[in-house]
Amino acid sequence: MEDCVFCKIIKGDIPSKKVYEDDDILAFYDINPIAKVHVLVIPKKHITSLLELKEEDKDLLFHIFNKINEIAEIVGVAKTGFRVISNVGEDSGQAVKHLHFHILGGEKLPTR
Ligand code: AMP
Ligand code: ZN
Repeated sequence: MEDCVFCKIIKGDIPSKKVYEDDDILAFYDINPIAKVHVLVIPKKHITSLLELKEEDKDLLFHIFNKINEIAEIVGVAKTGFRVISNVGEDSGQAVKHLHFHILGGEKLPTR
């Protein structure tokens, strides 16, 4: 996906502050944090959003959620708590059309 910012981050064409990486996923700090800790977790495979998930992605999805717990430990929010968000489509304000999960924490988060 040539115009995708996150694909460029995966390729190393755009720098990022990496938290975790393996063959299938990458986690890095959000460039414009909305909480004290704000990390993005993305699959290396370009998937537009949750809406585009297919049966064949089930192992990948499990892997992402399994690693979200580990990443939360790495960035120090596992014990204090955190929120996981994935924006889908226009009303959600999804700006980057590459599936991603925001991990927010490090402080009390607004309830609305
Ligand atoms: P969303 O609105 O759910 O699509 O979120 C996209 C997120 O990507 C936003 O929180 C942006 O701050 C973040 N973002 C965009 N470009 C970069 C980048 N080059 N490095 C890190 N985070 C980015
Ligand atoms: Zn992409």
